[in-house]
This record gives sequence, C-alpha cells and structure tokens, in this order.
Amino acid sequence: MKKKSSFLKLKLREAAMISRGFLSQRHPVLAHVIPMRRCNLACAYCNEYDNYSKPVPFAEMQRRLDKLADLGTAIITISGGEPMMHPQIFEIVAHIRRRGMIAGLITNGFYLTPEKIRRFNAAGLEYLQISIDNVEPDEVSKKSLRLLDKRLQWLAEHADFQVNINSVIGGGIKQPEDAITVGRRALELGFSATVGVIHDGQGELKPLAEREQRVYREFKQMSRQEYARLDWFQENLAQGRPNNWSCRAGARYLYICEDGLVHYCSQQRGTPGVPLADYTQADLDREYKTEKWCAPYCTVACAQKTALLDDPRNLIRLYGDSLRQWVKDKSGGQPLPVVAPAPAPTHVAPVKSHDVVKPDAVPQVLSAE
Ligand code: SF4
Ligand code: SF4
Repeated sequence: MKKKSSFLKLKLREAAMISRGFLSQRHPVLAHVIPMRRCNLACAYCNEYDNYSKPVPFAEMQRRLDKLADLGTAIITISGGEPMMHPQIFEIVAHIRRRGMIAGLITNGFYLTPEKIRRFNAAGLEYLQISIDNVEPDEVSKKSLRLLDKRLQWLAEHADFQVNINSVIGGGIKQPEDAITVGRRALELGFSATVGVIHDGQGELKPLAEREQRVYREFKQMSRQEYARLDWFQENLAQGRPNNWSCRAGARYLYICEDGLVHYCSQQRGTPGVPLADYTQADLDREYKTEKWCAPYCTVACAQKTALLDDPRNLIRLYGDSLRQWVKDKSGGQPLPVVAPAPAPTHVAPVKSHDVVKPDAVPQVLSAE
C-alpha cells in the first residue's frame, strides 16, 4: 500500500515537473551527480570508475545540490562509480528531497541490505536503477542475476521507491539471451525492466548482431510498456543507424563530476568543464542552442529523454501511436495518417567513443516507459 501511494506521489511530482519543463526551457530537467568515483567492481566496458578516489565531502555535495536547486533542476540522479560507497549517501538523498527535487539512484546493488533499503525509504528516495549484465558472473561483468537476486528480493520486500532493472546488449556481453532472463525476473518481482545498447571496451558502438537484435526484439515484446516511448532512439542504435535530434546537454541535462564541474554527459567529460558554482543562466542558454556533433550515435538515454520535452516532433513520435489508436477507436476504424519521418541529418558524425557506458535511470515518465 505504501509503495502504491509513493508511486502515485512520484507520478504527480513527475507530471508537475513535465508541465514546468514544457512551460519554460530555461532550467535543467535532470542532473546526474557523482558523489563517489570509486567502484567496488571493474566492468570491462566501463570508463566511469576508479579504485582509489575518496567520497566528495557531504558539505560540498550540499553546496552542489543547492546550486542545482537554485538553477531550477527538477530531478537529480545520483550515480558513480558506486554511489553506495559514499558514507553519507542517505543524507545526500534527504538533501535532494529537502530542496524539492526528485531523487533517484543508480547502483550496482552490491551494498543493498534490508536496513539500507529502509534508510533509503526514510531519506525519501523515489527511484532506483540496477543494471544487471548477465546471469552468471564472467570476466566482462560481475553484475549478475545470480549474485544480485537476493538483493532484488529485499528490494521487492522493503522498498517504498520505484525500482527499474536494466539489462544491456552489446559491449562484449557474451550471452545476450541473459537480458531476457533478467527482464523476466524483474517483472516477476514487480519492477520495471529495460534494456540498453552499450558500447564495447574501446568505446565503439557497433550495430547489434542478428542474435543480439533477436534478443532486443524479444525483450521489447516482453516489456512492451517500458519501450513505447523510446523505441525510436533504441531501434536506430540497435541497427547502427543515426538518430536525428537536438541534444540539450549542458542546459536541460547536466553531468556533475566528482570535482564539481559541469559536463555535457559521462561521455563528453571536459565540455564545457565549467565549475558548477560558476554556472549561470547564460551558460544554460548558450548550451541549449549548441549543436552536439555526437548526437547521431549518442546512447545517453537521459539526455535523449530530456530533449523530448523540447521538440514537438519528438512528442508526436512519442504519442503518435497512442493518438492514432485513440482516433481509430473513436472513429470506428478510420486511422490517422502516420507522421512522416524527420529528414536525415545533413552531417553525420563518425561513430566514436562517445556513447554511454551504462543506460541511465530517470523517473518512469522520462524513462523507457
Ligand atoms: S559499470 Fe557501474 S558497477 Fe561496473 S565498473 Fe562501472 S561504475 Fe562500477
Ligand atoms: S554524447 Fe549524447 S548526451 Fe553527450 S553531448 Fe553528445 S549527444 Fe549529448
């Protein structure tokens, strides 16, 4: 019952956030913050962790979160490294909520215990994502269903917040079929389930092989609802085709590294590379308009989702199917015409090492729902 009311509250907060996002384009929708670069694992495809760095002091995290709140940020996703290694992770979540922002967390799940899940409940965490890469651990990834299943059961039992389990395809993952097993288990436990296309250890995004594409299609069938809204991006990436969209990173989507610098995203660290403390409305306005060369093959799902708020053409694509179906139902079978696809980009950047390491978590309304 508690979970259901938290879910409804989150949906209402998301709806308010989306309305605000539509009404004004001059504030960030989502910021990823990194309180801890260090990780307890070493996934072969990952370039977002180290094994030595210290946690960002809580007072500094508070200052950064306050600045993000002052800029009008609606959602904070805490990521890493492994953010649960931060000794004050619960206080960080509580501070996000105190400042009125939606609080989410991406974790590898290894540090979850019933007690910590209850502490997240008390702190006000609203959503959590775990990426599970395979059924049995191997040299590519230890984020395995077998090692994490107990923690998933604890989450099902104790969490008041929304849980999404993300599986991945590509990036050297040996058994793509594992994604189906992971997705099934997630749905069975009452979580949402998504799948993301990732790059390999060299940062190359390759079109999925036939076997991987089969798995991807099957996953989509199994988890239909989660996929309706992001079909377009994922579908193209799965086939190695570019996407035609305007990335608003640096404006609507921010990535704040452990040093407190603003970057476009995890894969474009260094740009703009301005300290968050000095980031102004002028920076947001400039970056909103800046064209990102890496957009066609970008796999940073969060940046894509936030961009949906600003591009009416994207919204038509998102809701077009539902609208067509609604009109068809109401008009006794007369379908609406299909919206023509957007023109191909005039300049397509080469596929380089600028795609995401791990798909990101955001509340359901912006995630792959
Ligand atoms: S993917 Fe996540 S769990 Fe794996 S090394 Fe990177 S940060 Fe750690
Ligand atoms: S990699 Fe994606 S999210 Fe990052 S700047 Fe490029 S297009 Fe934007």
